[in-house]
Amino acid sequence: MTAEIIDGKKLAENIKQEVKAAIEERVRQQLPVPGLATVLVGNNPASRTYVASKIKTTADLGIHSLSYELEENCPQDKLVSLIEELNQNQDIQGILVQLPLPDHLSEDRVMHTISPKKDVDGLHPYNAGLLTRKYSEPLFYPCTPSGIIHMIQSVCPDISGMDAAVIGRSSIVGMPTAMMLSRCNTTPTICHSQTRHLDEVCRESDIVVAAAGSPGLVRGEWIKPGAIVIDVGINHIPDKTSPRGYRLVGDVEFDEAVKRAGAISPVPGGVGPMTIAMLMANTLKAIEYR
Ligand code: NDP
Repeated sequence: MTAEIIDGKKLAENIKQEVKAAIEERVRQQLPVPGLATVLVGNNPASRTYVASKIKTTADLGIHSLSYELEENCPQDKLVSLIEELNQNQDIQGILVQLPLPDHLSEDRVMHTISPKKDVDGLHPYNAGLLTRKYSEPLFYPCTPSGIIHMIQSVCPDISGMDAAVIGRSSIVGMPTAMMLSRCNTTPTICHSQTRHLDEVCRESDIVVAAAGSPGLVRGEWIKPGAIVIDVGINHIPDKTSPRGYRLVGDVEFDEAVKRAGAISPVPGGVGPMTIAMLMANTLKAIEYR
């Protein structure tokens, strides 16, 4: 058996086209278009690439965008003041502060400062808290977990009753993904660096979401035949044959897992494009809270 490949690029393109059409319709009706502010602090090359890609996508879709670049040693108060200003800016509905921040800055304080109504990344503790409450809806679902759920449901719309392994418990990916999987009526097991018998948890799971940042962690033989496997990991592996000097791999041993899984997402071309598409969808939604 060879797994169906979950094409994140194609799914993301569909979502972006829907957002674009909705924005064109707003323009036709002379309604305000949403605005997204991106804030990049420091010189992390990967963060710079991600922000550039987000800015380009906003332009492609007709979303108004403002971008801010702050120096690596930017004081905490300066960043907080900028966010407070953006909270008041009527032309901006979404604020995205690219993570990770330089070590001297508190991500927690920054996340608390963003207005929950402009929290298009879905990481504010208010929205994160609502995600855990059975009868509540967060104002925004976080982008990468939303992309993951969308990808899973693209191959299996009803995952109710399934067992899921989520490898990683970060506030950005692992934990909210587990919460969203629970909302879809699966039974998630949250795994982390101290989990014993990770292989056994995976073997018993109908869905495996790997978000550890550890290349090849999930072995092909751990995959239950027919399972849905979403590989979130983005790992740079030195590769002299590549013009960039590296190649990107995920957390799953793809070549082996593809022979056992029912459906699997690749790296690159899987979760990455979905994260940006979901950010655009959240920015469109943010106009409702204007
Ligand atoms: P973090 O480093 O914040 O979290 C990693 C998690 O994985 C931790 O909970 C850690 O456990 C767990 N972990 C690490 N090693 C192991 C192991 N050997 N076995 C089991 N669990 C392990 O990373 P993020 O959540 O931010 O990101 C995870 C990966 O996803 C990264 O590769 C990142 O680049 C990628 N990513 C991709 C995105 C996309 O759009 N495609 C978006 C965001 C992230 P513990 O808590 O015990 O330390």
